[in-house]
Amino acid sequence: MEHWGRLLFILIALAVLSLAAWPAAGSTAAMAVFAAGLLVIAVTHYRHIALLRRWLRDPVPERVPSGLGIWDLVFADLYRLLRRQRQSESRLTATLEDFRQAGAAMPDGMVILDSQDRIEWCNPVAEQHFGLDRSRDAGQGITYLVRQPQFVEYLQAQRYSEPLEMRQTRGDLILSVQLVPYGDQQKLMISRDVTDLERVETMRRDFIANVSHELRTPLTVLSGFLETIMDIKPADSELLRRSLPLMMDQTERMRRLVEDLLTLSRLESSHNPPREESVNVPELARVLYHDALALSAGRHRVALDQADDDWLTASEEELRSAFSNLVSNAVRYTPAGGEIMVVWQRRGPEAVFSVRDTGIGIASQHLPRLTERFYRVDRSRSRETGGTGLGLAIVKHVLNRHQARLEIASEPGRGSTFSAVFPAERRLAPVRREPIARSA
Ligand code: ADP
Repeated sequence: MEHWGRLLFILIALAVLSLAAWPAAGSTAAMAVFAAGLLVIAVTHYRHIALLRRWLRDPVPERVPSGLGIWDLVFADLYRLLRRQRQSESRLTATLEDFRQAGAAMPDGMVILDSQDRIEWCNPVAEQHFGLDRSRDAGQGITYLVRQPQFVEYLQAQRYSEPLEMRQTRGDLILSVQLVPYGDQQKLMISRDVTDLERVETMRRDFIANVSHELRTPLTVLSGFLETIMDIKPADSELLRRSLPLMMDQTERMRRLVEDLLTLSRLESSHNPPREESVNVPELARVLYHDALALSAGRHRVALDQADDDWLTASEEELRSAFSNLVSNAVRYTPAGGEIMVVWQRRGPEAVFSVRDTGIGIASQHLPRLTERFYRVDRSRSRETGGTGLGLAIVKHVLNRHQARLEIASEPGRGSTFSAVFPAERRLAPVRREPIARSA
């Protein structure tokens, strides 16, 4: 309103001036005075618009022009607006810089990937880990720069819940890499140097393997001598007669433990995938069925159900080791009179090898821990039946190496079913019928 008032005041003043000129100089002169006044007003506005236009070419707040009347207010508002914008811009820049510095200070490598897996940003640790250069490589596809096949596979498989462990050729670096999807199909790639951890883990594995290896020979010698002594029947000594079988049992237990430890450390230390053989699983199931009959020695009813005649692409030795652990567990944890069933069947696209028993079963709270090394529900029962506590750990490792999983369904007092579930890609149409040799 204030501005309209000013305009009105100017127009009235102009009108009064023109009217004052009328009696002395006539109506034409009065109109001319009025028109001249309007022209001055128009030119003033035009000049300000020209000033504004010139300033808009380089709109810095420090050079906002000064003006007259309403233009002074317009220029002052513009100045304030720009100052406010400047302040929020610098606040935003500071926050961004804070984030950058936090990212740069992270002990882990971080790479931000866009929806096409191109690098948007990375921190210095990631530059070191993957040999990247932030300014040069921004916008490049990550698979052009990190070319390891296992990384490319990990990126494409989109199963990011587990990290990927990968060896960098440069400097013998071992990295644990994890992808975290976020936002609009973007991904955060976090990398951690686990070279030292892996070295300690390798030392642990080598130590167990070496100790087991060293123990194997003396144990073999010891049990050989014990057998010989037992054969010559030391009838003259009651003590020897009673203690020799016990010594023999303990030696045998140690031998089994050493064998299982060696198997486990072989599986753990093997970075290579398992051998890809065509395994005649129906035949293997038959062999294991006969093994179960022999182990049971008539104490159980044993059955074989082969609903599927598919083979598997797998390592035969590893499968045999895993499956026979399941079979021997079923025999050992099923009281006499119980039933054991070896099953090979298809479930949807997957192939399942299961061993069912009507044995003692397992309470649900133990199920998640059964595959841990030396985890036993009932330590004395495991020992009495010759268990090492490593059987299911071996099973889990073998199945992991074959992209298969172990499913356990069990009810205390009613029995258990242990199933090895193989993905469709490992299934194979029957090739040729070659009998598999019986396991020892
Ligand atoms: P172990 O040599 O002690 O049998 P495993 O690793 O093979 O070791 O099994 C771990 C534990 O899981 C066993 O100690 C036992 O308590 C339980 N378990 C395994 N299989 C069965 C089964 N078929 N029925 C009941 N319990 C089982």
